[in-house]
Amino acid sequence: MAAVQLSERAADECRLAHLTHGAVAEKLRAAPIVLLPTGSTEQHGPMGLIGTDAFCAEAIAVAAARATGVLVAPTLALTPAPFNMGFAGTISISPALFGALVGEVVGSLAAHGVRAVLAINGHGANLEPVRTVAANTPIPLGISSWWDGPAVNAIRTRHFGAWEGMHATPSEIALTMAMFGEWAVPDAARTPPEKLTPQFIAAHAGDRHGPPDEHRAQFPDGRVGSHSALATAALGAALMEAAAADMAAAIRRFARDNAVTLPR
Ligand SMILES: [Zn+2]
Repeated sequence: MAAVQLSERAADECRLAHLTHGAVAEKLRAAPIVLLPTGSTEQHGPMGLIGTDAFCAEAIAVAAARATGVLVAPTLALTPAPFNMGFAGTISISPALFGALVGEVVGSLAAHGVRAVLAINGHGANLEPVRTVAANTPIPLGISSWWDGPAVNAIRTRHFGAWEGMHATPSEIALTMAMFGEWAVPDAARTPPEKLTPQFIAAHAGDRHGPPDEHRAQFPDGRVGSHSALATAALGAALMEAAAADMAAAIRRFARDNAVTLPR
């Protein structure tokens, strides 16, 4: 089995989009679970890329898919981020449209024999719409955020502590540096942001932020308690390895819970 028509460099057997329909059918017979990376297209502070969440979710999904033998569907990068619409580059779609899109993606995959879908998540505001639509999908739909696992959390706590914050986190920026190469910290990101209170963190989990004007007034450079400048490519590589291992374990648990046997 191979992505026969592609050069070796382009072929990636864990990516659905890189295979022929015949190769997909064969893969799904061996491993009827598909990963669906869910990111965002939104500001990530004075040094983070607009595509950060989508890049992180996709890279971790691909690494975990290689370890478990499952397929990765194309990344959903357009998701709800209304609170960041005060910053250029953010594209936000409604939770209802995003939930409906996820539901139809899962329905399509179910029609091809997929027995369960796990969203590999990089953006807090995706959690609620995915959990809501999961009540009505024809096959089980789960969601697992890359920062939830124990190995990745140990690194975040050890290196960044409270400066991890909630948005434009040094962890997610380090992951993108591991993917694209480290870049210089701009002056605007050198000073730490305002520190968050535990009350703020508890009240805003899952990206429950206010309207865009209010959000930008409260966090003028887009960082929400996160000292992005602590990111390095080396830490990003360590985070990637830890997140991929945590996610592979989450995929195996998800498969077991849904009575699906994986090839590895
Ligand atoms: Zn992010």
